[in-house]
Amino acid sequence: MLARWFRSVFGPPIGSGGNDMNGLWQRAGDRMRDELGQVGYETWIGPLNFVGHQGSTVTVEAPNRFFRDWINDRYMSLMRSALSAEAGGQIEVRLTLGENAAVAPQQQRPVNGHANGNGHANGNGHANGNGNGKAVAANRATPVAAPRGDRHPTLNPRYSFAEFVVGSANQFAHAAAQAVANQPGEKYNPLFIYGGVGLGKTHLVTAIGHHIYASSERPRKVLFMPAEIFMNELIGSLRRDKMNEFREKFRRVDTLILDDVQFLAGRERTQEEFFHTFNVLHAERHQIILTSDKIPREIPGLEERLRNRFEMGLIADIAPPDLETRVAIVQKKAVLENLRLAPEVAMYIAQSVSSNVRELEGCLTRLAALASFDGSAITVDFAKNALQDLVRNSEAKPDIETIQKTVADFFHIRLTDLKSKKRTQHIAFCRQVAMYLCRKLTDSSFPTIGEHFGRDHSTVIHAYNLIMRRVTSDSAFRLSIEKIERELKSIRANAA
Ligand code: ADP
Ligand code: MG
Repeated sequence: MLARWFRSVFGPPIGSGGNDMNGLWQRAGDRMRDELGQVGYETWIGPLNFVGHQGSTVTVEAPNRFFRDWINDRYMSLMRSALSAEAGGQIEVRLTLGENAAVAPQQQRPVNGHANGNGHANGNGHANGNGNGKAVAANRATPVAAPRGDRHPTLNPRYSFAEFVVGSANQFAHAAAQAVANQPGEKYNPLFIYGGVGLGKTHLVTAIGHHIYASSERPRKVLFMPAEIFMNELIGSLRRDKMNEFREKFRRVDTLILDDVQFLAGRERTQEEFFHTFNVLHAERHQIILTSDKIPREIPGLEERLRNRFEMGLIADIAPPDLETRVAIVQKKAVLENLRLAPEVAMYIAQSVSSNVRELEGCLTRLAALASFDGSAITVDFAKNALQDLVRNSEAKPDIETIQKTVADFFHIRLTDLKSKKRTQHIAFCRQVAMYLCRKLTDSSFPTIGEHFGRDHSTVIHAYNLIMRRVTSDSAFRLSIEKIERELKSIRANAA
């Protein structure tokens, strides 16, 4: 049964290289890119080779031992959940070494980047060193196992309060998180944390989970779940007629952390179910913790009764960190990675990436990986060299021409038609989408965008408002738009 379902999602089993299977890996890759940021994705996921699957276990090959250990440590659960979410069922991941990558066990060093035989051991083509492990010796002290006794067994062990750097931009959210961690279910229920991508929301709410789990006499039952997985599980339970089990699972917990609730937008059935779950937990004074990229009021397609619930407790925001905090974060991460980093290098990285901690972290781990390949010491020059393109690229915005071309390709129409005066419904609609994206993703004014389409600014404003309304009210449409945005992101990344 499972095998049949699996085949229908993945195509034929190992070795046959079915397209569906590659498609799944690619879609899961998109998810991981969203999660890790472009830099992190290119550094860690890009070099992996998707070998195939057997039953519901997927085999992925790492280019060397350094990668394998690193990924096992940090990205395994991400990879598992991205694949599971895309496949619509639980997927296990087996991480193996590439054929030529074997080194003696216990040897904590990468092998030659060339030796993996898949031609992309490192996403940038200039880091293939002799693999003698000098950098590991130079930059990485012997890894020390983190004390895990005070951590929840399945939550991300690195997302603790101790590893969270407090600055002015996240001070309030941090204080709120600590208050809830110390008195779950009593003071602020629910706690709602919102802020932009990669600013530490998941880290902070996970830290609450660890603390609640570890600080009571009996381990409290803490359940962390991305809202999207909640939705997938709900759909699965409905399909299999297992709703009682589903309800039990959620209503038995002491603390429920639902991450990225903006995903509930427009999902009526999921919202209804969550509404009831929420009420049961809340009535019994069990702690509910929510994160989102927006405040409840601005989540499109969120039912009012649920919005009211979300606003009942405490709402705290996380803003992008200032320079000082960014330096502190880089330094802290370097210590955690046992990476020796000169202060001026930390400053360089912090100055280069301003808006997203995940990208910041990605730069750091990329440096560690590159240095490990060619045995260099991490100096400012080395960092500049290694990160130059990525840094510029991660902050760059697409231009109007690129958006026009991408939208035309996406909808399979000619670029000249997109820019023409043609008024057929489909072409006019594609044009409106392109105008909307130009306004959203570039700094260009309405009149400037108009010029690129041979129209005046009022046409662009009209198009923008029209598409924005639809994005807000129609979740399937929004997904298509997000797909185009992802496409644009990857074009920028590949251009670097
Ligand atoms: P979000 O959920 O807001 O998108 P995450 O919580 O996933 O962001 O954070 C992205 C990465 O940045 C994580 O690896 C996290 O540890 C790190 N990070 C974010 N903010 C901080 C901080 N203040 N201190 C330490 N690490 C942080
Ligand atoms: Mg998150």
